[in-house]
Amino acid sequence: MEKLTLADIPDDDLTGKRVLVRVDFNVPLDSQERVADDTRIRASLPTLRRLATAGARTIIISHLGRPRGKRVPEMSLRPAARRLAELVDVPVHFVGETVGKQAIIATRALAAGEFLVLENTRFLPGDEQNDEGLAEDLAGLGDLFVNDAFGAAHRAHASTSGVAAAMKARGDLAVAGELMRRELEYLGRTLGNPQHPFVAILGGAKISGKIDVIESLLPRADRILVGGAMANTFFAARDLPTGTSLVEEDRIPMARELLARAGDTVILPLDVVVAPALDEPESSRTVDIDSIPTDMMALDIGPKTVDAFTAEIVAAMTVLWNGPMGVFEVREFSDGTRGVARALVEATRAGATTIVGGGDSAAALTDLDLHDDVSHVSTGGGASLEFIEGKGLPGVESLSDRGDI
Ligand code: ADP
Ligand code: MG
Repeated sequence: MEKLTLADIPDDDLTGKRVLVRVDFNVPLDSQERVADDTRIRASLPTLRRLATAGARTIIISHLGRPRGKRVPEMSLRPAARRLAELVDVPVHFVGETVGKQAIIATRALAAGEFLVLENTRFLPGDEQNDEGLAEDLAGLGDLFVNDAFGAAHRAHASTSGVAAAMKARGDLAVAGELMRRELEYLGRTLGNPQHPFVAILGGAKISGKIDVIESLLPRADRILVGGAMANTFFAARDLPTGTSLVEEDRIPMARELLARAGDTVILPLDVVVAPALDEPESSRTVDIDSIPTDMMALDIGPKTVDAFTAEIVAAMTVLWNGPMGVFEVREFSDGTRGVARALVEATRAGATTIVGGGDSAAALTDLDLHDDVSHVSTGGGASLEFIEGKGLPGVESLSDRGDI
């Protein structure tokens, strides 16, 4: 079912209205309680700017960190509110409460076109418990609910799905914000019905967290290119030597079964960069995958693999990338990840739709300054994986359907 989005709501229905927006301001703070990385705050600006322009009275809620239902001063949203104020040219107010009397008074005092940031929803135990009373209190703060927190959409919390349900029960609307709309468009519509050839690239630390993604992509993808530590478990499944590489022993039978079923859809690396240890990059060298020495570990894909993967990627019409190809945090083991990132950019320039999911993959793109050179970089780590797997996300499911207005 298609969900209603903020773009479906005309300005007239927003002017002067109290609009409650759930954003993902779960940002890292430094020791001076300043925002160390404001990517997530910037990601919410399209939604917030639309609301300000339409003259809405915008009330912003979010979680930050894991205070576990208690007030933890170091996890206050005040620094995020301060950073937001630097990014926009409308007044940004903050109140150190979420649903109490002061919060209610502040929402009533808010003028059209202004922003009010409320305190961390997870200071209240009811948020993670999806408490109905809290959901109703939150819904009471606004006339309309906008969920723009895709990164939190896989959790059924009072501030994500509970408040949306309470809003709808009252006869009002709960809609997707701009960021959420883009995520649904790329991860839902594009990947749900991809233009072929559709090439998926999977890497990262573990096969166990991503096995369901491989399963769900297998019938849809023309190629699944595997790199990162995940490839090691597949090497073991093929009875290749893996040396001291990170291998998930308990997943070998599963990997073997998957390879038997995948035909030529799953493509493994041809060569890898090995070293005796992560902190001995000076002793690294490239070997074919049948020759990983017993005392060495695979830490990146090799140049032959980069060439083979690049050929597949640049010929694709749809590309999904999740998980770095090696330990990209160490310069000597980052060439594979760089190579794949460059191939994605080339494919994008040639007209393909290219989508990157996963926190570390997104960080790798940012390091390379290629963040804006692909079609879409998802802001949701766990949420994007679950969505790609085809699981319904509570934060999405709970929104109003298109037929509701
Ligand atoms: P994402 O956040 O993009 O989903 P993951 O969290 O699954 O990615 O994995 C990222 C981590 O995987 C990185 O810290 C990287 O160093 C690690 N990694 C990649 N390849 C290897 C490898 N061959 N051996 C050990 N760690 C690896
Ligand atoms: Mg990660």
